[in-house]
Amino acid sequence: MTTTRTWSEDGAAMAKVTNADLHCHSTVSDGLLAPAEVVRRAYANGVDLLALTDHDEIGGLDEARRTAAELGLRFVDGVEISVSWGDDTTVHIVALDIDPRHPGLIAGLAQVRSGRDQRAVQMGVELDKVGIHGAHQGALRFVGNPALVSRSHFARHIVETGHAKDVKSVFDHWLAKGKPGYVAHSWATLGQALGWIHGAGGLAVIAHPGRYRLSNKELRRLLVEFRDLGGQGIEVLSGSHSDDEVSEFARYAREFGFLASRASDFHGPGESRIDLGKLPQLPEDLTPVWQKFR
Ligand code: AMP
Ligand code: MN
Ligand code: MN
Ligand code: MN
Repeated sequence: MTTTRTWSEDGAAMAKVTNADLHCHSTVSDGLLAPAEVVRRAYANGVDLLALTDHDEIGGLDEARRTAAELGLRFVDGVEISVSWGDDTTVHIVALDIDPRHPGLIAGLAQVRSGRDQRAVQMGVELDKVGIHGAHQGALRFVGNPALVSRSHFARHIVETGHAKDVKSVFDHWLAKGKPGYVAHSWATLGQALGWIHGAGGLAVIAHPGRYRLSNKELRRLLVEFRDLGGQGIEVLSGSHSDDEVSEFARYAREFGFLASRASDFHGPGESRIDLGKLPQLPEDLTPVWQKFR
């Protein structure tokens, strides 16, 4: 199932990487910058290894890879897959160093994306009931890729129309699980996502584990299931982790033998807490996931 990975001639080059950023978004999903702009910003910020990981979409990779090549910036293909796990918990799995031409991955991602339009219509209906009218049409004005309507696009519309001061408070009041505009949705299963990633020769990494509001027991169950399915890595450094969470997830990486990732999850200037490449270094005893890149 899992591709065997050995150190290629690139192994030595990967050992020299000092500013990897392996998680960010472009206008092909819910980021604010076009793929080429994301790459140029990463380069300007001193990133020396970049992965673009749009939600359920690989449509930005060609442009990003081309731009990175022009700049001499090392680039790997990635995607962030939406997964439904347990009792209506959405978990994100970042796929790194994938072959974006792999038919199983392409078909799988198309399947995950396909439910988004109907969900967006329903979100519009639910938001209308609480006095936010025309939210679906409004959200569509912020969408860069018609196949990828996300809660972020709704959030930007709701801020622009003055219902909230920023994107974060939109989620707190309307779009997070349990809030009036939240619509439950079935994404991929964990098994499907890992199957597509491994089929495409990639490495699977649990994104921002601090964001799922799971109890310790549930989190442990997720990590065990992920490892048993061949999952390899965990984001120890993430734009959404506090210092305490970094220590916590470093401990889990040691215990489970996971590779460690460094991931801003940058969406755009003004919207993200951490800019591209502006992360601390991983704890030295952990194995960085990029050491296993081809
Ligand atoms: P979706 O895939 O449509 O459910 O949208 C998920 C996206 O919403 C995430 O990738 C984030 O970009 C954004 N998001 C989720 N929760 C929050 C939050 N609390 N604050 C800001 N953005 C959020
Ligand atoms: Mn997002
Ligand atoms: Mn995510
Ligand atoms: Mn992300």
